[in-house]
Amino acid sequence: MNASSPQASRPTPQPHLFDLTRDELASWIEEQGEKPSHADRIFRAIYKHNRTTLMGVQNLPDRLAQKLEETFSLSPLETERVLDSSDGTRKILFRLYDGARVETVCIPSGKRMTLCISSQVGCALGCRFCYTASMGPGRNLAVSEYISQVVEGLRQAPCEYSVVNIVFMGMGEPLVNFKNLLSTLSILTDHFGLQLGARRITVSTAGLSPQILGLGEAFPVRLALSLHATTDEVRDDLMPINQRYNIANLFETLQQLQELPGQRDVAVLLEYTLIRDVNDSLEDAHRLAELAQSIRSKVNLIPYNEHPGAPYRSPDDEVLWPFMQILQQAGVRVTKRITRGDDILAACGQLAISSPRSTTTAP
Ligand code: SF4
Repeated sequence: MNASSPQASRPTPQPHLFDLTRDELASWIEEQGEKPSHADRIFRAIYKHNRTTLMGVQNLPDRLAQKLEETFSLSPLETERVLDSSDGTRKILFRLYDGARVETVCIPSGKRMTLCISSQVGCALGCRFCYTASMGPGRNLAVSEYISQVVEGLRQAPCEYSVVNIVFMGMGEPLVNFKNLLSTLSILTDHFGLQLGARRITVSTAGLSPQILGLGEAFPVRLALSLHATTDEVRDDLMPINQRYNIANLFETLQQLQELPGQRDVAVLLEYTLIRDVNDSLEDAHRLAELAQSIRSKVNLIPYNEHPGAPYRSPDDEVLWPFMQILQQAGVRVTKRITRGDDILAACGQLAISSPRSTTTAP
């Protein structure tokens, strides 16, 4: 591999050191005629000791440190805006090298810090209830843009924490950005890198069946499926990806996923946004219970969060409890999502779109 390789996935004037997995870095170092094992100490320096310069790293030759710094950037993402909610949630708007913007959300809960990170600028899947979709197709984030959200998100966390969870539930569809997602997971779980347990990572998808299995084969991370409908007729309309991978296909895929060695004791999180008069009937609740029981799962009910220009409405309060009860009586584990950060433009993508200097780029 040469220095131009990471640039292929990150069209910047200079590749970033966060773009490389440890194996890729070791190969690059070997190509320079140096010992590939230096990759271990470089990873430790940048991820464990948060070094932003490599000169002076113990046992790292100065000539290699200099060459790395000439070839790769180590600059942090530019923070454009930070919004704090009264409930402790912090939303950070990052400006990327090309002027595009993405959001990262820090959600504290006791000693736990959950970082919700973005995968794309905009999203091409066009779910009708989604604010990010209104930004258009945008582009995939590079590995370094993924990793920088984690590094900066933890650095700017609003309070002390001892446990970190990462959820890929921000802007965009992570399984469309599949190659970069896998490299990112490699760095996040690397014991010389950020050393996060795979079970502390949840990847959310609108339902790309082939990549769901590919992900499960590569990493024992948790999966969240944005289901949001119990019939193909409604889901085709709400989430056009359903026309490619329908509900029956998805649940067959999830059954196969749960047979993989790393997934045998893991439940899939089924996310279900309740939208008034669209998917909130008691018949929907019965169908959802049946789907949930066909795999190991937990259901997370999310009352729809109305936002400007949205074609849908929040569910009636009187609908939520009977809906939940039907699921519980069927033996389904169900929670209602507590909405966090309501006062800071909570809908995903809302902050990036409402930013006065917001721009997005076409792929
Ligand atoms: S819900 Fe997710 S997959 Fe659907 S358009 Fe929004 S970001 Fe894309």
